Parts: sequence; structure tokens; C-alpha cells
Amino acid sequence: MSNVFELISNDEFEEVAYGYDKKSGLKSIVAIHNTTLGPSFGGTRMMLYENEEAALKDCLKLARAMTYKNAAAGINFGGGKAVIIADSKTQKDEALLRAYGRFVDGLAGRFIAGVDVGTDENDMVIVQQETDHVTALPKYYGGAGSTSGATAYGVYQGMKKAAEKVFEEPDISGKKVSIQGAGNIGSRLAEYLADDGAEVYITDVDENAIKMVQDKIDVKVVKPEEIYGLDVDIFAPCALGAILNDDTIPKLKCKLVAGSANNQLKDVEKHSKMLKDRNIVYGVDFILSAGGVINNSQQYNEFGYNKTAAYKKVATIGDNMQKVIKIAEDKDITTYEAAHIFAKSRLEMSNDLNKWYLKKERGIKV
Ligand code: NAD
Repeated sequence: MSNVFELISNDEFEEVAYGYDKKSGLKSIVAIHNTTLGPSFGGTRMMLYENEEAALKDCLKLARAMTYKNAAAGINFGGGKAVIIADSKTQKDEALLRAYGRFVDGLAGRFIAGVDVGTDENDMVIVQQETDHVTALPKYYGGAGSTSGATAYGVYQGMKKAAEKVFEEPDISGKKVSIQGAGNIGSRLAEYLADDGAEVYITDVDENAIKMVQDKIDVKVVKPEEIYGLDVDIFAPCALGAILNDDTIPKLKCKLVAGSANNQLKDVEKHSKMLKDRNIVYGVDFILSAGGVINNSQQYNEFGYNKTAAYKKVATIGDNMQKVIKIAEDKDITTYEAAHIFAKSRLEMSNDLNKWYLKKERGIKV
């Protein structure tokens, strides 16, 4: 294993904690990147890794991304992430999840655990038996429930506002939009767009997923390999990461890419620049897909979780997207770079505020 301090010093991580419990088999890492804005808030990824170094590196990368996602989303949480090195299908049980809950509790609120690949809201019900520092709980436990609805709504709002700037038209009606992935997010996005009068093209490798969308709305179905070359105005990647790359970018005919998939750019610098050079506006993934985390954060609303209030906050993704596009235009940089400038400005603002000494801790306000 390489030197951990060397790994964490470049991006200035605050803390990396390791949790181990022999009997339950818990092997977990929590990385806390930055808590300028509040306690770190991020998901729990449960999977097997090639080795421990790969697990640590994944955890660090994800934790850092949460700092920028949360900052840009306008919520008062920092960036952190947890991994549990285990097979979620065969090794997940009560003992493992409760041991994880005790590990998280020991971090005394510096990390608030949510769900990610390999964990779900039912797991968080077990985790909360050992710690209060948990989110993504079902509605009947006072949480915000599944993140999918809010994520889809955020992508829709962000896409609409980005389209307003790119096409200089007030609405999306009549626009041709292609969606890759008819899962939780893609299917809901298709419904919002169809309601707005957009012409929707969709693809998926799973025929059942397509059929469920077709049962609800009028969409044009295309083969998975056809999605990149379609003559559309907007392309929404809602399936896989790394799909914006050397092979696919030259095929695109759209003017805007706006979807939910995490890490859409295979090589962030090279491929964000390639899109810019082709005059395609990239609706940055961590700006557009923040609806779920914004929605979960509303569990901390002192008046209790309220869907109307939460979705109002999710809709601000549209304004954020417009601000990012404006920064990119003004500075002649990629939207990816602009999104980082936008997120960092909120961290700086918070640092400036902290110069004012306050005697009383006010707790988390969202
Ligand atoms: P999902 O698993 O419900 O749907 C993904 C769909 O993509 C599936 O139907 C799958 O069959 C399809 N797919 C897989 N490979 C494909 C391919 N090559 N071509 C076409 N379709 C393909 O996932 P989701 O919850 O809808 O999330 C979609 C994306 O958004 C993921 O990348 C996810 O990480 C990201 N995301 C989701 C959330 C959330 O709240 N669910 C939040 C942030 C980001």
C-alpha cells in the first residue's frame, strides 16, 4: 500500500478512518475531504475491490467529488464517502451493517452516511440503530426516501435552464432529446420531457425498461449503438459513466449534453475540451445530478422533511447550471472548469463568514 499521507495531501483531505470488526467481517473506509460547509455527507458504497489500495483510491475520489457536488448544490454539507469492502449480495447482513453504524457513530457527526452502489434505504434503517448520523432513510423513518425522483427532477430543471441559454428559447417544446438508459432516472426524465412537448428518443439494453416507458408515453426507441449519432438537440446520458470519449464525441450532433450519469467524461480535461471545441455545451454531471443529495439534506430541515420545500431547492439546479454556463462563457473555459470555480466560490464564501466569531453552535441549517 502506498503512503496514505502522500495520497491525501494533494487534494488536502482532512481525515481517513478505517473501521474493522472481525466477527461481522466489517472492513470499511471513510474519507472526509472537506468540512468547510458542514459535516461531510456522502454515500456508502459496498463492493469487492481488487485490493485495499483500489478501495482507498475509490473512496478518496468519491469523497472529493462530494465536496464540489454539495458546495455547488448550495447545501451546508462537506464532502465525504464510505466504502465497505464486501459483496453486497452475499456478505451484507445485520451484524455488518450495525458494525458499520458504530464505526460511523465514532466519527461523532463529522460524516453522515447515505446510500450508494450496493446499499439502499433499508440498509440505512439498520445502520441508524447504531448512529444518528445517517441519511437516505425511508419516508416512514423521517427520511426523504429514494433519491431517484429528486435526481430526475433536478436533471430536468438543469436541462431546461441550460437549453434556455444554449438555444435562446424559453421552453423545450419541440426539441429533440435522446436519452441513454430508461432506468429510474431516464424513464422519469422522459416523462417530464414528453409532458413539455419534447420529441423523446430513448435506448436501453433492457427491453423491459423500454417497455415500461412505452406503456406511459410516446417515445421513439433506438438501438443502444445508435444513440450517439442521432440528429437531436439534446443528449441525456442516464446509464453509464465514461460514455463521452474519443469514439463518441465526434459522432454527437447535439448542442447540449445534460444527463444524470456519474463521471460521463472518460478523461475530464481532454473530453470536456473536445466538447467545447465542437460547440457542445456540457451540462456538468455533478451539477445536474445533485437532486438526490439536495433532497436527502432536507431531512435536516428544522421543520421536518417536506417534499414541496425540498423540490423547490432541487429546482435551483437550473439556476446553478445557468451560472456555470455564464462563467464558462465569460472566461472562455469548459463548463467542467467553470463548475469547479462555482463550487469553490461557495467554500471561499463560507471561510470568509467563519472569520466572524460566534459563541453558539447553531447546528445544521439547510
Ligand atoms: P438504473 O440502474 O435504474 O438505470 C440505468 C439504465 O441504464 C438501466 O435500465 C440499464 O439497463 C441501462 N443501461 C445500462 N447499460 C446501457 C447501455 N450500454 N446503453 C443503454 N442503456 C444502458 O440507474 P438510475 O438510478 O436511473 O441512474 C442512472 C445514472 O445516474 C447512473 O449512472 C447513476 O450513477 C446516476 N445517478 C443516479 C442517481 C439516483 O438518485 N438514482 C443520483 C446521481 C447519479
